[in-house]
Amino acid sequence: MISIKPHHFVDILTAFGDGCTDPKPHPYGHAVHSVTKEILANHYVSLRMEFGADDICLPCCHNVNGLCDDTIDVSFRPKAPKSKREYNLLMDQRWAERLGIQQDDILTAHEFCLRVRDRAGDISDIYRETPVDRTAERQKKLQLGVTKFLG
Ligand code: SF4
Repeated sequence: MISIKPHHFVDILTAFGDGCTDPKPHPYGHAVHSVTKEILANHYVSLRMEFGADDICLPCCHNVNGLCDDTIDVSFRPKAPKSKREYNLLMDQRWAERLGIQQDDILTAHEFCLRVRDRAGDISDIYRETPVDRTAERQKKLQLGVTKFLG
């Protein structure tokens, strides 16, 4: 069972759509690379929805007692909260509402991906602080990632 923020799995699918199948360890020390590999190796692995620190955050240098102390780049999204923790929570809440999921729900990666396929729709509202051209690119990659993941 993998504990994961909804938007983290969406990010993994988006990167997959962008051709990322073998991510390398990040300088932050977080576990995106290992969790990605685990999910890509087993599309039916169970995912527990977590809106706080997840298994990706656990080894991260910015995970301080379960709270992310990092900031986001607001240069192109001035209306977004600078705190990554606050921004991530917004993303998770919006994705959870869109996909009909709640904290601690358990879905397989395949089931989650089906929900993204069937319910994501136009994601510009989820990333409303981000310029539309960037979100349009993200949407294309996400759709491609979902299609590839579902085979
Ligand atoms: S959300 Fe924060 S603690 Fe979690 S992986 Fe990202 S930077 Fe690290």
